[in-house]
Amino acid sequence: MQIVPQPCVRCGELIPAERIEALPETMVCVRCSKEIGGEFHVIVTPEKTSKEGSLKKNYGGYTTRKIRKPIKPRDEE
Ligand SMILES: [Zn+2]
Repeated sequence: MQIVPQPCVRCGELIPAERIEALPETMVCVRCSKEIGGEFHVIVTPEKTSKEGSLKKNYGGYTTRKIRKPIKPRDEE
């Protein structure tokens, strides 16, 4: 599959195909991602395996959710 460089939604520069290949969800270039402290909020939630109120330790795994931060064009910040 041919990967086409996409323009960064923040500064308009093209995001290199290598970055899109590594991170297909990305909408910003490396520089903007650094400037806004990452494109996503990562929320880690322990999975509940024991009943509510149980003292048993939770040996379950963790669910991670990524929430995209609102990204504004750099000019509007
Ligand atoms: Zn950018």
